[in-house]
Parts: sequence; C-alpha cells; structure tokens
Amino acid sequence: MKKYSTLLAVLCFAGNIAAQELKWKPEYTEYWNSQPAVVTPGEGVKAPSDAIVLFDGKDLSAWQSADGSDAKWKVENGFFTVVRGTGTIQTKRVFGSCQLHIEWRSPAEVDPKRTGQGRGNSGIFLQSRYELQVLDGYNNPTYTNGGAGSIYKQSPPMVNACRKPGEWQVYDVIYTAPEFCGKGEVISPARITVIHNGIVVQNSTVIKGNTEYIGLPAYSPHGRLPLTLQDHGDPVSYRNIWIRDL
Ligand code: MG
Repeated sequence: MKKYSTLLAVLCFAGNIAAQELKWKPEYTEYWNSQPAVVTPGEGVKAPSDAIVLFDGKDLSAWQSADGSDAKWKVENGFFTVVRGTGTIQTKRVFGSCQLHIEWRSPAEVDPKRTGQGRGNSGIFLQSRYELQVLDGYNNPTYTNGGAGSIYKQSPPMVNACRKPGEWQVYDVIYTAPEFCGKGEVISPARITVIHNGIVVQNSTVIKGNTEYIGLPAYSPHGRLPLTLQDHGDPVSYRNIWIRDL
C-alpha cells in the first residue's frame, strides 16, 4: 500500500511541476503554418474563382450523353433544356465530395392532366447515383420523399421551398462522398446538405445508398464519378452550373 502511495505522491509532484511550467499564451492555440487558399467570390451570378464552370450559358461542351456521344439537350438564351427521349447527360469530368450550385426551372405551362411525378420532373444525380429530385412542387402534391429537394425515395425535404412553375430556382449543395474499404464495405456513407432558394431543405442528410425507384437503397463501392442530369421526359431547363471540389 505504501508503495502505491509513494508512486501517487511522485505523480502529483510531477503534475504540479508540469502545470507550473506550462503557462498558456494566446499564440499556443493559433495556427499560422498553412494559410487558406484565396478564392475570389463571384459577383452576382458568377462562379467563385476556383470553381469548375459546368455551364456558362453558351454550350454543353462540359457534358456528354451516357454513351459518350455529344449531349443532345437544347441550348438557347443562356440556358439548356431537356429534350425528351435523348437520355440523361453527364459531365465529362468526375467528382467526389463537392459544392454544387445549379439553377433549374420547370415549364411555365402546366398541363392539369400531368400531376405528381409527371410535372416538371428531372433530377441531379451526385456521382451519377444519388438523386436530388427536381420537380415542379408548387401546388403539386406527391409522396414526400419524391418532392423537389428530396433525396429521391429516401429523405423528404424539410420544407417545400418551391417557386412557381416557370420561375428559376436554385439548389446550393454540399456533398460528402461515401468512403469504402478495400473489400467494398461502407466506411462512411454519403452526406448531403441542400439549400433550395436560400432555404435549408436537407441538413447533412445521410444517403442510404444508390437511388432506386423500386426497392431499398444499397451501396456499391465506387470512386469519383460524373454529375448526371435526368431526362424524365419533361422540358426542365438548367443554367448557371458550377462546382467546387471539396
Ligand atoms: Mg427525377
């Protein structure tokens, strides 16, 4: 017993010495050795200086069809529009975790016979797998995890932030790619934050796996992949798209 008391006394003595010697100063908790890169914010609708511009209003040179042929969607007046039946388009570059800015517009003319998922449907697939839904959600009820701002068939938006059909809308996205171990098991799932027209609709939402129309989502391992836009048959338009690697 005496042996342990002696040891305790020695440790206390050493601790007191250490506490006396370590006098905290403000600079001990200040980091100076790696300054953040300087990024110039965009003026108005312009992209930040380090962003990769995926569409600047002129052409679809950053995009292609899924089979590698030229993207066949229509470019006019500073935006481009889905051409029904021509298929999804995807970026030529591949991405992992990213910040994405993208503006979209569902058709101004609303056919009253087309409701729910049939109205202004498109989609933004992060890494070609995880769909952030694009849909005319203005006075157009549908299943909640299929509405605008949802992670399709997984997570409903926190609120419905849709503008009227024919008005431009904005998604600002912060996306963290999933990580997989060597055997393909998920180390950390994908996460996504979505701000729709300035309003948070997904807050670090965990993505459960590949977007599935039928059945439950599940992951399959992958690396960097393109950003994909969905042709769901509706003439949805896009403009001002830029992305930053994170
Ligand atoms: Mg869709």
